[in-house]
Formats: sequence, structure tokens, C-alpha cells
Amino acid sequence: MNIILLGAPGSGKGTVAEALKKSFELTHISTGDIFRANIANETELGRKAKSYIDRGDLVPDDITVDMVKERLSHQDCSSGFMLDGFPRTITQADALESILCSRGQSVDAVINLQVSDAVIIRRISARRVCKSCGATYSQTFNPPQQDGKCDVCGGEIVQRADDMPETVLSRLETYAQKTQPLVDYYAARAILINVDNESGLDLAMRQIQDQFAQRGLISSQ
Ligand code: ADP
Ligand code: ZN
Repeated sequence: MNIILLGAPGSGKGTVAEALKKSFELTHISTGDIFRANIANETELGRKAKSYIDRGDLVPDDITVDMVKERLSHQDCSSGFMLDGFPRTITQADALESILCSRGQSVDAVINLQVSDAVIIRRISARRVCKSCGATYSQTFNPPQQDGKCDVCGGEIVQRADDMPETVLSRLETYAQKTQPLVDYYAARAILINVDNESGLDLAMRQIQDQFAQRGLISSQ
């Protein structure tokens, strides 16, 4: 099964991705995580992407598409993948379609996580991440056991530069302008699954499993 996670920044794509990874064996590809790893390792790609990310803009399509194309060519993607944060523009979606088509693959479902702007702003302002391993925490819902220290690896816990309030507003604007049109794009291909993600992970996962079963992607229990 090949799936895409769609949703505004802070809509919970990462959290839902972790849960889906446990239920189905899918390779998780987060473009945001790949960019952040490249910035941390000071690679050429990281250097190119950093200024856009810090401003809350999208990294240009050609850079992003090349990176995803390379990642999708790895062996671990042949038996199912989950794209988190890609595509984010119509150009990226068209490119993805042709990359997959040339390999005889396709996307089975696009999960659109729906959350109001007010909840998004609240969630993002509470979000903290581990500088070393990327584990995420919420100051309000699941703070680390020891203040400022990662439960998983002991690394330092920080707020993402692009999670500061001014940048969050510009990310939400970018989303509305460039990414929201993908909802219609995938609805037209009859693979869109709308999921209300305001009421917790369990409810979201139940909606996803029901929809997967209705579409014959998994057998219904
Ligand atoms: P969120 O979903 O919370 O916005 P991500 O970790 O997915 O966070 O992305 C962080 C940043 O990385 C984005 O704001 C953008 O600058 C860049 N980015 C990630 N994915 C893409 C993409 N598909 N196209 C362009 N830029 C991207
Ligand atoms: Zn850590």
C-alpha cells in the first residue's frame, strides 16, 4: 500500500504516521525530517533548503522532487511507503505521478488530516523537538520526564525555529495557497480520505481503518 499524508503544519501528520507505521509495514518518508537532517549535517542540500525553511516558505519544487525521487528509488519503498509532507504543490503532485507511473506504481490513498487553525496554533506553540533524534514532545500534552532532556536519547529539547509564532502564520498562508489545492486534485482521482484530527489519535486511526476497509485496502475485521 502506498499512501500520502496531507494536512496543514501542526495537523498531526507525524503522529499519525508513527501510528500507521505500527499497524501497516510502510516506509515512512518525511520531507521535513530529511531537510532537517541535512541542515544538521551541513550538507549542500541542507544549505540550499535552510533559508526557505527558516522563513516558512516551501523549498523549491526541483530540489524537493529530486530528493524524493532519489529516496523512492531505495529498495525499502518497493513494498509500500507513506509520504509525509510531500507533495505540497500541484507541480510536486504531477512529478510524483510520473515518477510512480514510470515504475508501474501508484498512490492508493491520500489521508487529509483536518484541524482548525486555532487548534493548530495552540499545538504548534507547545511543540518541542529533540535536537539529536527528532523525537517530538508537547509542553502541554506529553512533556519529557526531565525538563529539557529527551526521554529517548538524552538530547537537548528545543523549539523548532520555524515553530515561532511569526513563522507559523506564514506557513499556514503558504499551506492555504500552495497545498490546499491538492485536496481537490486527489478528490478528483477518488483516492482522498478526509479525517477529522481534532479529537485525538484513536478516533483518527479508527476513521482511517474504516476507510481503508471500505476501499478494500485492508480486510475488514
Ligand atoms: P510541518 O508539516 O509541520 O510544516 P514539515 O516538517 O513537514 O513541517 O516541514 C518543515 C518545512 O520543510 C516546511 O515548512 C518547508 O519549508 C519544508 N518542506 C517540507 N516538505 C516540503 C515539500 N514537499 N516541498 C517544499 N518544502 C518542503
Ligand atoms: Zn532524542
